[in-house]
Amino acid sequence: MFSLNKILNKLKPSKGAAKATQVAEPLILTRDKHSISRKQIRQSALKVLYTLNEAGYEAYLVGGCVRDLLLGHEPKDFDIATNALPEEVHKLFRRSRLIGRRFKLVHVRFGRDEIIEVATFRAPPEAEMHVDDQGRIMQDNVYGTLAQDAWRRDFTVNALYYNIRDFSIVDYTGGIADLEAGLIRLIGDVETRYREDPVRMLRAVRFMGKLGLRLAPETEAGITKFGSLLADIPAARLFDETLKLYLSGQAAMTHELLCHYHLFDHMYPQTAALLKTEADNYPRTLLMKALENTDKRLADNKPVTPAFLFAALLWEPLRQRWQHYQTRMPEMPAMQRAATEVLSEQVQRVAIPKRYSMVTRDIWSLQPRLTRRQGKRAFSLLLHPKFRAGYDFLALRAEAGESIQPLVDWWTRFQAVPVNEQNEMVQSLSGQGDTEKRKPRRRRRRRKPVNKED
Ligand code: ATP
Ligand code: MG
Repeated sequence: MFSLNKILNKLKPSKGAAKATQVAEPLILTRDKHSISRKQIRQSALKVLYTLNEAGYEAYLVGGCVRDLLLGHEPKDFDIATNALPEEVHKLFRRSRLIGRRFKLVHVRFGRDEIIEVATFRAPPEAEMHVDDQGRIMQDNVYGTLAQDAWRRDFTVNALYYNIRDFSIVDYTGGIADLEAGLIRLIGDVETRYREDPVRMLRAVRFMGKLGLRLAPETEAGITKFGSLLADIPAARLFDETLKLYLSGQAAMTHELLCHYHLFDHMYPQTAALLKTEADNYPRTLLMKALENTDKRLADNKPVTPAFLFAALLWEPLRQRWQHYQTRMPEMPAMQRAATEVLSEQVQRVAIPKRYSMVTRDIWSLQPRLTRRQGKRAFSLLLHPKFRAGYDFLALRAEAGESIQPLVDWWTRFQAVPVNEQNEMVQSLSGQGDTEKRKPRRRRRRRKPVNKED
């Protein structure tokens, strides 16, 4: 298990962390003063860096990859910053594409699915717009200098540049000192930077979970103060962030941090309300177990589906609403109604695309269906395209303390045995006084209506 306390500021803040105040001269770490070697850099990225350099442009690795290499992690991707304009970059690489509208980036392709992103140094937001006295934007100076590019980034540890010309690291904002102190520090004025883009709060928490770093005190205090600004972030962006937060391999810890800083409340309000008030710990246990399983699957290089994640994230509000509607209607329509309501409320905050929410619904609907195993039902459920996810979810509920373990065991065995044993399993259900409730099916042709059980 992870230790949340380790990275929360319950420990005393380390000394020596540089304050991110703007200075003209950057700190330059020459090759002998840092650990990044070219062997750790992907060939494709080196190729792009050298090509830019040979054409007379400046070229740097920047952002997450420099940070991760310095921390000894393997970078997810290698991003490049340059003073070449996007069109100039595009001309240098045959397999490249200009993307974006106002601020253009270049994607350089390698092999079948590798992409190296090259961005031209960017100016801070206030330098981008020159407004006339009518308030119209006259000119769009979106591109800037290396120094400007560094200062407009989010955290000091994300604003380090690896210079391909002499293999040095360039640090304008104090990122090296912060990395050494294990601190994530927002660049510039905390309020301004969180207001500019409240998603930076989620990014701070994600990097804590992912890198095991702590937040600098002001960066942390700002989250408590400005967390509610997340309410203004478009739901589509919060969907992207959810995937990054929960599918990064550290979902359990990241979720705890999101709750700790009350950021979860703004993303999943229905769930957040119930996680807090529920006296027994079932909802929290279920979600944490789901997240730990997700982390484990990712660590084992197994696939994970966002639909399952959403099924777990929203299970408690769904379950409560489902129970509520069952007082008025049969369990299947009650489930459909509850699912529709919970999902339509949720997509106001986090825009879960239909292709995932349909599967989430399937996983939920399978829960009552998996209790009905008689006749041909168990066999046809086995053929349901989402059977496996539904079964996994059933097992998750049992693991979280619902008394349905015998049902889970039954399905585990049913999947493993040959068809003659499956038939026996189904036949012995009624004999064993199977308690599952079966409503008579209206359109079933039966000679003797008294004999209702198969
Ligand atoms: P990861 O390993 O998760 O990819 P990353 O730091 O590379 O981490 P990206 O989202 O790939 O994160 O962004 C690349 C870089 O762009 C960041 O390191 C940071 O310098 C800058 N950046 C990204 N998002 C923001 C933001 N919201 N505000 C300011 N700078 C940002
Ligand atoms: Mg990145």
